[in-house]
Amino acid sequence: MQGYILKTARAKNEDLIVTVLTKRHLFTLYRFYGARHSILNLGYKIDFETEYSSKAYLPRLRHITHLNFSWLKESNRTMIWQQFVSRLHRHLEQLYEVDGFYFDMLENAASLWGKQNPKRTAIQFYVKLLHHEGRIHPLNKCFICEGKIDKDLTLIRAFLPAHPRCVAGAETISKEGAEFLFANKRTLLLEEEEIEYLWSLLLEGF
Ligand SMILES: [Zn+2]
Repeated sequence: MQGYILKTARAKNEDLIVTVLTKRHLFTLYRFYGARHSILNLGYKIDFETEYSSKAYLPRLRHITHLNFSWLKESNRTMIWQQFVSRLHRHLEQLYEVDGFYFDMLENAASLWGKQNPKRTAIQFYVKLLHHEGRIHPLNKCFICEGKIDKDLTLIRAFLPAHPRCVAGAETISKEGAEFLFANKRTLLLEEEEIEYLWSLLLEGF
């Protein structure tokens, strides 16, 4: 089956505990160290098999093939991908059975990742995730003071709307740009500084 590596953690003797997201599951698997084994990095897409044994606590991760993307050669794109994927891991880590939405989201995001500023791609897909989870809020009410938002808008963690004056360190976001983003899942009307700000919110967690 195919999946994305959402986390790797060292176990004893250079073995690894690897968390893999497939279309249906979030697997936690054990990878025995082998000198000839290829390196498993966070965010990589792999084809693999699992092997269950009554003696082991975790199933084994076996017969791995990397399914590489050409943009993985670009370290900046790869780093942003890994940041995105690790936030997704934190969001899903309590689950075993997962909605296919998240695997499909990574598939679609990965195919766009090399084509535009990856932070824009991440923000687009994060808004799709918020929609999917029913977590989009109308942009005319401040989440902090509950007052009406006329013109000056900012977003906070989880892209919740607020007045810039109600949030320390907040940056103003174009209301038109944010409305377009929420309605069309596209960042077309947002400037680079706004993208940087939204990306910093995304890094706080999904
Ligand atoms: Zn307010």
